[in-house]
Amino acid sequence: MTAIDLPQETARLLAQLGVDKAAFSNGARLVRTPITGQTIGRVADADARQTAAAIDAAHAAYLSWRLVPAPRRGELVRLFGDELRAHKAELGRLVSLEVGKIASEGLGEVQEMIDICDFALGLSRQLYGLTIATERAQHRMMETWHPLGVVGIVSAFNFPVAVWAWNAALALVCGNAIVWKPSEKTPLTALATQALFARALAKFGDAPAGLAAVLLGGRDVGHALVDHAKVALVSATGSTAMGRAVGPRVAQRFGRVLLELGGNNAAIVCPSADLDLAVRGLAFAAMGTAGQRCTTLRRLFVHSSVYDALIGRLKQAYLSVGIGDPLVPGTLVGPLIDKAAFDAMQAALAQAATLGGKATGGARVTDGFAADAFYVRPALVEMPDQTGPVLEETFAPILYAMRYDDLGDAIAKHNAVAQGLSSSIFTNDLREAELFLSARGSDCGIANVNIGPSGAEIGGAFGGEKETGGGRESGSDSWRAYMRRATNTINYGRTLPLAQGVKFDIG
Ligand code: NAD
Repeated sequence: MTAIDLPQETARLLAQLGVDKAAFSNGARLVRTPITGQTIGRVADADARQTAAAIDAAHAAYLSWRLVPAPRRGELVRLFGDELRAHKAELGRLVSLEVGKIASEGLGEVQEMIDICDFALGLSRQLYGLTIATERAQHRMMETWHPLGVVGIVSAFNFPVAVWAWNAALALVCGNAIVWKPSEKTPLTALATQALFARALAKFGDAPAGLAAVLLGGRDVGHALVDHAKVALVSATGSTAMGRAVGPRVAQRFGRVLLELGGNNAAIVCPSADLDLAVRGLAFAAMGTAGQRCTTLRRLFVHSSVYDALIGRLKQAYLSVGIGDPLVPGTLVGPLIDKAAFDAMQAALAQAATLGGKATGGARVTDGFAADAFYVRPALVEMPDQTGPVLEETFAPILYAMRYDDLGDAIAKHNAVAQGLSSSIFTNDLREAELFLSARGSDCGIANVNIGPSGAEIGGAFGGEKETGGGRESGSDSWRAYMRRATNTINYGRTLPLAQGVKFDIG
């Protein structure tokens, strides 16, 4: 176990990041580090009055922020990116402390925030619409994109700050104000991010007050964002159960939603696959972040001709992977977030065993670890078929492996789950790769060749289909979700021809 005093270390990092001690010392909600289970902070939830006031202030801020030229709005995001660059080490370490990510993944999360700031800065000069040919003489038709208003951001524990940054950087350059409800499990990284953002605001100088708020709390705070008429878009990241509750509530008031929900991601390993590459790619995708990524590899279909060779090598990786304190160099698998995650993992493994599953790994690792910390050896479970827990997302490091003989059957099983986030195929056969990427192939929002399903970069649109919610965030043209489109028709002639040949002559 770590020799560092984690509560003290947390306080040191928060001070360096500019968070007032009162904000994490006196509240009723305890914040625990999964590394030891110790309490590392006490925060206060926002009450209904504070929540309503923050939304009203954000709406007022939006009314003036929308008038600021987009490249100038980009300047605020650039300044925030500078703060992140200057404090990457501290914020990355705080992510490791609060979520249990290994050091390089904590830093990688902050790098992702920096990357999206760079992307959004460039985007601030590229918020373009189309010009469209019209059927009427001396007319012009075009599309204009305008800000939406207040964007409510609800985020999950496993990417406690990067997901906010994906939304925030784009929403802000698009001219919106933002109100953030982070996971109740990760309020400290949210406070630190907000403090860095406050520094960027101070350097920017004249951004309207209330432009970016953070509201700590649980579902009730989430509900307030979801139900508030002034929140034009609710961008919610989390479980499918959360999305099922949030989606209809926002639809009820004709608000917009952007849902980034659970995944049950799979890979197919074909006879021609480079097995060295596959083993490395699959091991990271399945065991990295202790199986707590939405894009974690959870199902594996291996061609019978390479099944024994691949699974044998994967088993070795599962039995030898370094599990432990995420701050210690060499650790690849840190702790699960809490006991509930551990219990869910054990329940899934027990159910898989009753269905004929043969597990390698999966047990709790207790040697030298605190009683309130939940470390596990990742589990590789060979399943006779895709049944029971294989069809669900268990947010823990379990990889279910199955054989296949016909690629068409493997793709059918690949797609036969409710979720549709990420997917990959390992093959050196062009036909197999292209089939997997075609309309007959993977039904996911992300489909890769010769890399695993996890570890996306920000330049592409991120999100998935079916019960993953259909939202797209981050790169490509995802910015459009944060804006509304107006179609404009301009008549620069002296007559008034009507579309479709309609006549309406008032004489
Ligand atoms: P969760 O659903 O328990 O919580 C996510 C957030 O939603 C939290 O802030 C929570 O307070 C809030 N929330 C929960 N119920 C709500 C409700 N009824 N109304 C309003 N807000 C509500 O998820 P989690 O355990 O924090 O995160 C893990 C889940 O998130 C996994 O399913 C994972 O796949 C998913 N996830 C998806 C993506 C993606 O981009 N698709 C990214 C990260 C995590």
